[in-house]
Amino acid sequence: MSGPDRRPGAIHHLNCGTMSLAVTFGERLAPRRIVAHCLLVERSEGLLLVDTGFGMGDVRREPGRMTYSSRQLLRPALDPAETAIGQLRAMGHDPRDVTDIVLTHMDFDHVGGLGDFPQATVHVFGAELDAATHPTLRERSRYRKAMWAHGPKWRVLADAGDQWEGFGAVTALDTNGADDVVLVPLHGHTRGHCGVAVRRPGDAGWLFHAGDAFFDHREAHDPPACAPGLAIFQRLMAVDHGQRMRNLERVRELRSAHTGDIDVFCAHAAADLDRFA
Ligand SMILES: [Zn+2]
Repeated sequence: MSGPDRRPGAIHHLNCGTMSLAVTFGERLAPRRIVAHCLLVERSEGLLLVDTGFGMGDVRREPGRMTYSSRQLLRPALDPAETAIGQLRAMGHDPRDVTDIVLTHMDFDHVGGLGDFPQATVHVFGAELDAATHPTLRERSRYRKAMWAHGPKWRVLADAGDQWEGFGAVTALDTNGADDVVLVPLHGHTRGHCGVAVRRPGDAGWLFHAGDAFFDHREAHDPPACAPGLAIFQRLMAVDHGQRMRNLERVRELRSAHTGDIDVFCAHAAADLDRFA
């Protein structure tokens, strides 16, 4: 397949997994529609994904993926046209041109598409890979090893004292010596959860994909708000609730201090994704 002309720096916002929450009480508890917001970045070196959402292995209902109870609660569409590989192909790209995948964390709704890009280097924070590969009993339903059974080329990142906008950070990728994709540890939702900052082309500032640091887009606003069902769900899912709340406060401060040059969004809020439609 001959791909479209790649436009270095171009960034696409993909929904790689619509979910339809089972219990919303007419949306008083939580919004029904939840998305899996991923990024596709065109670089001269190749294509880069931030998270993968669900992939073809999920669509094919391969064994060892999401648990039955997760499927019942989240009710993912598992539509091949929503997978990252399906969307890349629809855009005219060759999926083999995906050279790099940067993960916010390794929950099943973020890594389901890894197997669709076996050639890619997968950049992940070390504490997260350790959690996913050595899960506690409580973590076993969120980390599904079938999703990386193909043996990705991991590139394990560790804190090396970098800084990004006052946060501790780890440069995942740079272009000509300039950081352009940066992992920002925001632990709490999982042991090694990170946000991912991607530099926009020109002087347009940064996109900040905050992963699952928050679920309701209004949590990053000032004053914050959160649908009650999402607040409970996040508390139940967090490995460290206090740490998550402290990081969320810092993300809120970042957003209000940089309204013009840093665009903050999370993985699952449809309202955030729709801003980029
Ligand atoms: Zn998630």
